[in-house]
Amino acid sequence: MINLPLNIDYSGKVVVITGAGGLICGAMARAFAQSGARVAALDLNEEAVKALADELKAEGFICEGYKANVLDPEALEAVHNAVLNDLGPCDILVNGAGGNNPRATTDNEYQHEAKEGGKSFFDLQADGVDFVFKLNFRGTLLPTQAFAKDMVAKKKGCILNVSSMNAYTPLTKIPAYSAAKAGISNFTQWLATHFAGTGIRCNAIAPGFLVSAQNKSLLFNDDGTPTARSAKILNGTPMNRFVNADELLGGTLFLCDDNSASAITGVVLPIDCGFAAYSGV
Ligand code: NAD
Repeated sequence: MINLPLNIDYSGKVVVITGAGGLICGAMARAFAQSGARVAALDLNEEAVKALADELKAEGFICEGYKANVLDPEALEAVHNAVLNDLGPCDILVNGAGGNNPRATTDNEYQHEAKEGGKSFFDLQADGVDFVFKLNFRGTLLPTQAFAKDMVAKKKGCILNVSSMNAYTPLTKIPAYSAAKAGISNFTQWLATHFAGTGIRCNAIAPGFLVSAQNKSLLFNDDGTPTARSAKILNGTPMNRFVNADELLGGTLFLCDDNSASAITGVVLPIDCGFAAYSGV
């Protein structure tokens, strides 16, 4: 059980969450389930979402786990039918599956610091860049095509995308991920406009820097002190700390609530300890 930051009653709502096998969206799935929602947890990692669903069901909440590749329209349609059958039509869709790839990342922050044998801008692989754009952009487009049909039929619903700090100003080393997330913020506004007359709201959260199992060694040295990149992040963060995954839940539950956020559509909410607000000076 987690302590919910907001007490919003989501009972009767079917919430579909992609990337629910991961850190951020797993926490969101739990928050919605604890708020009474019927949760469909989707991920490429079937084991992770099945384990999450089992855990939540054992605690008395409603959650089903589904293997789903957000890049495969046919698989998504099959999962859509399974969700319809198991839980009912989708009321809320969280497009959380996303991420970066080393093939689209440079080793050096600046070209003038590029070292012999390192991966420079000129070594970025086009297929790695395609992978990152597809995962983040197409991986948001296709689940929306599959699940927003239910919302159109109800003339009501909510889509929540997951953008990032690098959408505002790109971060060094990760050009494709930065541009793809900028695309997500832009697409959020597009969807908000496109679906406004259909009663569907679309917003995004832009999480700041989180510490996860995958990036822990990049952010901290063995003795627990911040690495050089981590120190840069903290120096650029007015609150001088990282964001906890649980701190994304208040904004998530708020933006998806038709009562408290009824007039809010097309916004990207930074949840970032002030990173996006700070010029660095
Ligand atoms: P994570 O790696 O823990 O979770 C991502 C999940 O997406 C994984 O479970 C993975 O299996 C799944 N996934 C990957 N490809 C998929 C596919 N093709 N189909 C279905 N599922 C797929 O990452 P996270 O940190 O929880 O990130 C969740 C979202 O938040 C991502 O969109 C990420 O870009 C974004 N984000 C993360 C941070 C951060 O600091 N962790 C910051 C800003 C934004």
